[in-house]
Amino acid sequence: MNATIISIGDELLIGQTINTNASMIARKIAKAGVSVNSILTIGDTGNAIREAVAAAQANSDIAIVTGGLGPTHDDLTKDVLVKHFGGKLVLYPEILKALEARFEQRGYRMPENNRGQAMLPDNAKVLPNKVGTAQGMLFQSGKFLCFVLPGVPYEASFIMDDSIVPMLSSMIKDVVLLHQSWRTVGVPESVLAEKIGDIAAIEEHGKLAFLPKYSGVDLRISVRAANRAEAETRIRKSEKIIRAKVGHHIYGSGDESLAGTVGAILRERSATLAVAESCTGGLLCARLTSEPGSSDFFVGGMVTYSNAEKIRQLGVREDTLKKHGAVSEEVALEMSVGARHRLQVDFAISTTGIAGPGGGSAEKPVGTVWIGFASAEKSYAKKYTISSLREVNQERSVNYALAILLRELAGRS
Ligand code: ATP
Ligand code: MG
Repeated sequence: MNATIISIGDELLIGQTINTNASMIARKIAKAGVSVNSILTIGDTGNAIREAVAAAQANSDIAIVTGGLGPTHDDLTKDVLVKHFGGKLVLYPEILKALEARFEQRGYRMPENNRGQAMLPDNAKVLPNKVGTAQGMLFQSGKFLCFVLPGVPYEASFIMDDSIVPMLSSMIKDVVLLHQSWRTVGVPESVLAEKIGDIAAIEEHGKLAFLPKYSGVDLRISVRAANRAEAETRIRKSEKIIRAKVGHHIYGSGDESLAGTVGAILRERSATLAVAESCTGGLLCARLTSEPGSSDFFVGGMVTYSNAEKIRQLGVREDTLKKHGAVSEEVALEMSVGARHRLQVDFAISTTGIAGPGGGSAEKPVGTVWIGFASAEKSYAKKYTISSLREVNQERSVNYALAILLRELAGRS
């Protein structure tokens, strides 16, 4: 089964909104075994919507459309599609009641605009939206299925999980295409490729891809098979070969994050962690606390951007700062040791570097970063030379810090 994803919205065409819906949908249906033919991004006009749906109808088994279902004048999708598929809008009294109840619960009278959202096609199945006011819809024309979702990302995601993915999973009887990825850290793509060596044995089962990211390199296998069970067997077989060669670099699979893996190890050991950040400005704390349950191991962190705060909050010595500068092995070390003592934790990690674009020198160019580590047994700092780009320097610093923690905690990479 294959699909066209259609994203509707002028805001997408001017770059104001990133089209996260298309990638969210592609990810979810890929998991169900559907392959995506194309992703179309179009503006809020009737013609564009009709043309895109007609193209999907000609080329794909299904279309998944998002955007333009709201109650305002620029929301055309429903009107255009109901006509395209030869139906008309009728009042759904139970949806109207639910909408009114939703507004009442929040202490508002329902605006007249929203009444229109209870007017739904007489030729579509309603896909309930329990987290918003615009309902999803499913039109059918011959064998072609056209799913329509609101543009608000969490609403679209809800309806995907609640209605569409289960429906698609139960429908797919023919060839499935499944993907599985494994995440590595601390090894460049080329080194990883060298260690994996001849990929023929892996590619007997599926197609292997290397996907470098800030956080490390992901390895992905894409398997086409007659059914789900066979695809899963092939994935397991290729995983075995991959793990035998580079298993010690793999910290997780699928969407698992480095921070999540580090957190899980800390939790398992009942160990605690603190952070002292300079060049990453709180990103490392944010990454660690974005994991649910991080309070089990994460005690706190200091964002000490100035020298004065490094001295005051972490006990870095003025003398060390004067002698070596804020971006130095000695300061990174004193930051991590200071955070460990002041917050009374098992492990502490620190970042200090020149994020750029200004502030570099011949001796310490932009992208010079020191990461400090401290535990009861040892403390050290490690130098990285990253890039001339601020965002890359900050993101990579966070990942290097997490990678050091992973190595110290799990003895990996
Ligand atoms: P609503 O019922 O809330 O009005 P809608 O179907 O009318 O939903 P839009 O008005 O098109 O949706 O978009 C609602 C919000 O979702 C906007 O902030 C928009 O920027 C965002 N959005 C729309 N399409 C996408 C997309 N493809 N990816 C990410 N965000 C999107
Ligand atoms: Mg819109």
